[in-house]
Amino acid sequence: MNTATTIEELRNERNQIKGIVGLVPTMGYLHPGHISLVEKARSECDYVIVSIFVNPTQFAPSEDLSSYPRDLQQDFKYLEEAGTDLVWTPTDQIMYPHGYQTWITVDQLTQPLEGQFRPEHFRGVTTIVAKLFNVVQPQCAYFGQKDAQQAAVIQRMIIDLDFPINMVVCPIIREADNLAMSSRNAYLSDAQRKAATILSKSLFAAHRLYEEGERNATVLKESISQIVQSEPLANLQYVSCADPLSLQEVDKITSGALLSMAVYIGKTRLIDNILLK
Ligand code: AMP
Repeated sequence: MNTATTIEELRNERNQIKGIVGLVPTMGYLHPGHISLVEKARSECDYVIVSIFVNPTQFAPSEDLSSYPRDLQQDFKYLEEAGTDLVWTPTDQIMYPHGYQTWITVDQLTQPLEGQFRPEHFRGVTTIVAKLFNVVQPQCAYFGQKDAQQAAVIQRMIIDLDFPINMVVCPIIREADNLAMSSRNAYLSDAQRKAATILSKSLFAAHRLYEEGERNATVLKESISQIVQSEPLANLQYVSCADPLSLQEVDKITSGALLSMAVYIGKTRLIDNILLK
């Protein structure tokens, strides 16, 4: 497995590659959710590049940038086992050198859901992903449905800015008790870890109601809200039932919907979602 830190090192490697290049952007502290993206890329591409970069511009000052979990040694081990060809670990200085002042913004899709509570977040995400795309020039890029709004926003950016990239969105990988895997789960105490199952429990319960024929979005959101409130350690920030393409709230579900939520467990903010088809 090759490694690169600087843009020059990455470009030197990139120039020697023939065939289809797949990029998996991550912030590290890798878990089987990340590895599922690498495996998907491995199965579809000739050369798999994984970037590890904790992108400071997508964190608000009040968020967890300084405490975000990191373990590069373990990440490299997992990536090697998964058949990664190259790991790129740029520094803050490399991605945002002195004087940096250029931003990519996607207007409407970034407003609802996460955007209501993390107003600068997606500007940071689209800017760093555009930079990763420009440097790596992959033909394919792999993202997780875990961050459903992020996937929608990046897909929009790819179309709007004419990136010649095929975006692949991979399913959410969950723990045995259905908690969606996340690097941030590492923040949870044992009691909080148990309480965190309330996210998937409430989403799955709403999914069952949907399968039984319920199409009223308010009923589904109410059901989720009540289940989350039954868990004393959980604090619901939002629950949404939105059109999966526009991310606008729907009243009645006519052609599928994205049910999504953010919940605080103590100080840890967790997100989860399920697609109603
Ligand atoms: P992150 O390191 O959190 O920025 O995540 C890097 C990529 O992995 C993003 O595209 C995420 O959506 C994806 N990802 C994170 N957790 C999961 C999961 N549990 N299942 C599938 N993909 C995931």
